Amino acid sequence: KTADLAGLPPGVPEHLRDEGIEELYPPQAEAVEAGVTAGESLVASVPTASGKTLVAELAMLSAVERGGKALYIVPLRALASEKKAEFERWEEYGIDVGVSTGNYESSGEWLASRDIIVATSEKVDSLVRNNAPWVEDLSCVVADEVHLVDDSHRGPTLEVTLGKLRKINPGLQVVALSATVGNPEDIAEWLDAELVESDWRPIDLKMGVHYGNAITFDDGSQREVRVGKGDRQTPALVADILDDDSGGDEDDGGGSSLVFVNSRRNAEASAKRLADVTGKRITSAERGELAEIAQEIRDVSDTETSDTLANCVAKGAAFHHAGLAAEHRSLVEDAFRDRLIKVISATPTLAAGVNTPSRRVIVRDWQRYDGDFGGMKPLDVLEVHQMMGRAGRPGLDPYGEAVLLAKNADTRDELFERYIWADAEPVRSKLAAEPALRTHLLATVASGFAHTREGLLEFLDRTLYATQTDEPGRLERVTDNVLDYLEANGFVERDGDGITATSVGHTVSRLYLDPMSAAEIIDGLRWASDHREEKLRELEGEAGGSTRENRADAEANAEAGFRRASEMVPDADDAEGDESEGEFETDRTYPTALGLFHLVCRTPDMYQLYLKSGDREEYTERCYEREPELLGNTPSEYEDVRFEEWLSALKTARLLEDWANEVDEDRITERYGVGPGDIRGKVETAEWLLGAAEQLTSEIDASATIAVREAKMRVQYGVRDELIDLAGIRGVGRKRARRLFEAGIETRADLREADKSVVLAALRGRRKTAENVLEAAGRKDPSMDDVREADAEDVPDA
Ligand code: ADP
Repeated sequence: KTADLAGLPPGVPEHLRDEGIEELYPPQAEAVEAGVTAGESLVASVPTASGKTLVAELAMLSAVERGGKALYIVPLRALASEKKAEFERWEEYGIDVGVSTGNYESSGEWLASRDIIVATSEKVDSLVRNNAPWVEDLSCVVADEVHLVDDSHRGPTLEVTLGKLRKINPGLQVVALSATVGNPEDIAEWLDAELVESDWRPIDLKMGVHYGNAITFDDGSQREVRVGKGDRQTPALVADILDDDSGGDEDDGGGSSLVFVNSRRNAEASAKRLADVTGKRITSAERGELAEIAQEIRDVSDTETSDTLANCVAKGAAFHHAGLAAEHRSLVEDAFRDRLIKVISATPTLAAGVNTPSRRVIVRDWQRYDGDFGGMKPLDVLEVHQMMGRAGRPGLDPYGEAVLLAKNADTRDELFERYIWADAEPVRSKLAAEPALRTHLLATVASGFAHTREGLLEFLDRTLYATQTDEPGRLERVTDNVLDYLEANGFVERDGDGITATSVGHTVSRLYLDPMSAAEIIDGLRWASDHREEKLRELEGEAGGSTRENRADAEANAEAGFRRASEMVPDADDAEGDESEGEFETDRTYPTALGLFHLVCRTPDMYQLYLKSGDREEYTERCYEREPELLGNTPSEYEDVRFEEWLSALKTARLLEDWANEVDEDRITERYGVGPGDIRGKVETAEWLLGAAEQLTSEIDASATIAVREAKMRVQYGVRDELIDLAGIRGVGRKRARRLFEAGIETRADLREADKSVVLAALRGRRKTAENVLEAAGRKDPSMDDVREADAEDVPDA
């Protein structure tokens, strides 16, 4: 009984009871018996939705009650705020909760006053590198989804971070939450923890395969679900469960579905089709509420994705993927939990962590394109089990159903073997890969965890990798390679046995850069410094206007000028002007913004855009046109892989350039085939990398600092250089800055002096906004009372 739990802050057991949590689930009870509320380390390997979060909360709350401090490590940024919101219900019992996301390069000192801190593993790693003082005060650390140590991109960070935290704090309680994996005992051994392993679930799960006109379940039962000739399986399955009213809830109107597909495009296409199924089945009351949610979705952003999503939601269907804006995601999740949205088509990456149970889960795509593999690859059992585990809402559904789809009997049998009867794979450390070690060895040296090669190896000996490896010399060999690399690039110095980080090495580690990214940026900036005069001459020469490109520029500019003015008029037609095509900077700073964008896009820290078919030709041509701006020698076309990467970086850099040239978000999504969330992602990464480059210039060529800072601010605000000052004012985005500028208000100083009626007109008559903007710009009398909006004719260029 939760009421009998000892060691928690007063009030917590009663609170749990009021939430309907009166008895612990069996795995939770085992965790308590293993000492999780008394400071013991624990690995809990249990199915999705069987109450792992409560185990973590019990551990953290009792740690705080004993006078300690707890850290909850999440695998995704999107989950950090969700978990924080969940833990905030303990604030009434005196528990302060803080979340640390965002800027990598800070020690987050304010977090010292919090009892529970939520952060991603990358953020924690960075806090440790920046010597956050409170890290020493931690007494309990929770690692959510610890099986992700198996992920080759992000796993090593979690692995090393847990190692460092344990080294800083030898008595640390580690609570590791894991999906059911093949080898939880390895994780427990690595963390010196008790193991709770269970396949108990709070609600029965039936797993099956749909083929022909029926689902065959693992218990041998069958359920008829007819698919008309030429029809698809998914809509039939979604309709079937919606029309089923065997659920416990009277006004449930049947059950909801979660459909997992393998790409964003498929998620959207599937949602559009499923909207026809749900649209016919919603009540008029639901239709009204859904229309309001659809409007909220449109209010978030004015993009095609937003529009498509709103259209689907109006009919009771939605899609969910990493390209969606965060506000969109939470609107969809909430409406699904409120049972207004009847079906979500999702990509696995995000939906895996989010708590959106549903009556039926349909795993439509069990294969996904894998670039490294060069083709379609079956998903891991672990991943499919996690999707399936989302089926069934305790208390609402009689049981959950997870269904895979087969087109023929052979596939049906294969799916049973591969996923339904199979156990999840074992978790394997990915630490011994060079890219991972490059980053982590430099950080380990720079933050003083090791000063010698032996010290490093000793540290690595306490990792999961060391627990698992049966190839003794491997880690040593890779370590030596990486140390050579770090030394050759000037990040560490070796003196006999001793290893120290250089000044650049410290900067790189503190900035949370992959050393290889830092090396690329440093080389590029050095190259720019050596070639400055020559490149400036080339750029000036070409600016004369002899090339075809420059003629096209002039035309594009004329059109752009027209377009900008026309945007001042409400409802102006979004003309087909291609405002940023191949445009050179007008004021010849060097390096140019595009050159710097390309440089940071070349680094392994930037996830580049793919070249689609036809892109190679297009970007090869652009590459030669813009070559004088690029910081480094373009690889020969015969160096296939390097050349291709160079072009992908250029494509990504052009997206950033469009953004910094004030091209509409919608056009960018169209032009590059990405979602609005992707633009934000690229912009944030570029901002961070350019910020790092700015700091590195002081080590190389200080004369480039201003150009780098300007490029950084242009991506940060998404504006041309003349708007940097205005766009930096709180409440003024790129569009408002442009309208103010067109109205003759070009700087903060202008705002302090400007005719208020002109400001008001430029801000489209929004008085409150105008007041806030004036106040933020430092105006003494920001009040807009009695100010009349200037007539359109008074506003220059309008
Ligand atoms: P997991 O993290 O294992 O996927 P969650 O922690 O999200 O699962 O739990 C799923 C749901 O079960 C949550 O809504 C939670 O409130 C509920 N829950 C957890 N423990 C209990 C319990 N002992 N009794 C009733 N409900 C519980």
